[in-house]
Amino acid sequence: MRHPAADINGTLPTNRSLNTGIAPSCPGCGSIGISRIGSIPDAFEFAGRKLDTPLPGGSLYRCRVCTLHWRHPQPDKRELDALYRQGDAASWQYHPVRRQDWQIAMAIIRKNDGLHSVLDVGCFDGRFLDHLGTDYRRAGIEVHPRAAEHAASKGIQIVGRDFSDLETLPTPFDVVVAMDVIEHVGNPKEFLGSLAKATRPGGLIIVSTGNTAAWSWRLMRGMYWYCSIAEHLSFINPQWCKLISHELGLEITDLETFSHEPAKPSATFLQASANLFYRCLPNLAYGLRRFHALRKGLACRPSFRTPPHWRSARDHLLVAFRVPLRDGAHDLHCTDARVSLEVSRPAS
Ligand SMILES: [Zn+2]
Repeated sequence: MRHPAADINGTLPTNRSLNTGIAPSCPGCGSIGISRIGSIPDAFEFAGRKLDTPLPGGSLYRCRVCTLHWRHPQPDKRELDALYRQGDAASWQYHPVRRQDWQIAMAIIRKNDGLHSVLDVGCFDGRFLDHLGTDYRRAGIEVHPRAAEHAASKGIQIVGRDFSDLETLPTPFDVVVAMDVIEHVGNPKEFLGSLAKATRPGGLIIVSTGNTAAWSWRLMRGMYWYCSIAEHLSFINPQWCKLISHELGLEITDLETFSHEPAKPSATFLQASANLFYRCLPNLAYGLRRFHALRKGLACRPSFRTPPHWRSARDHLLVAFRVPLRDGAHDLHCTDARVSLEVSRPAS
């Protein structure tokens, strides 16, 4: 079904409503000690669907206290919901063997004894849980109705549609996974806290996402491919994971970096060279790409202004957090964390 805000062609209206606060503070810790990293290119598609008007990229910011990175401004929740409902389902489908994070997560789950129930937050069509196998009680949270139906047909219990459903699950799970999800939320710390509430004491939370500490990202700054994807709002790194796990009373048991799409050396070299070219001479890179397209009789796309995706870069991380065995530990640690961040916040 088309979203009510969409026109007859299924495109969204042009009067985009953006949260355009003047001086953004950190969405995670509230600090005003922030740095602007660079401009993010405008986006011409969202969730695999072409937009009638581009979404302004805004800027990439970094918190000097908790190291969280985020884009600002961001579409508001109403517009994000509308954009996601119109998303092309094919853009989220992957072959399990090609997903490095799925392989690492499965190895972590299988090597730990006593893990019997697994909740996949943002499970889409249940492909990860299906691949994990029927030795586990498998459940998912998924907002896309058709994808949730597919997951249910594979024997996966759908226990919620929205991240807010994490707060009201009747029984906690041994493992809660959220792979390529945390970058879609506005407040990753709050999200990680919700994942912890859905995990039993002694259980594991497994998160995978982009890594702002990767050298390729630090080189390309705001024009990096991962933050130019319009659905991606927030970005973390190992330092953030260590700080926030301490604040939430979680223990990091595994932290691995990997490439989203490993490629042959020749393709890796081409992606790296193209990105370096854009970094040093963006107008010349755009001009050459445009010239190349015109020579081949192809349309000149506005996305030529953006560097090509550098998917072979080792710019992703997967982190496994263990929830402590002590009852009530989360609340105590969260309270302590708020106090410590207040104290360490730089003066304005
Ligand atoms: Zn912060």
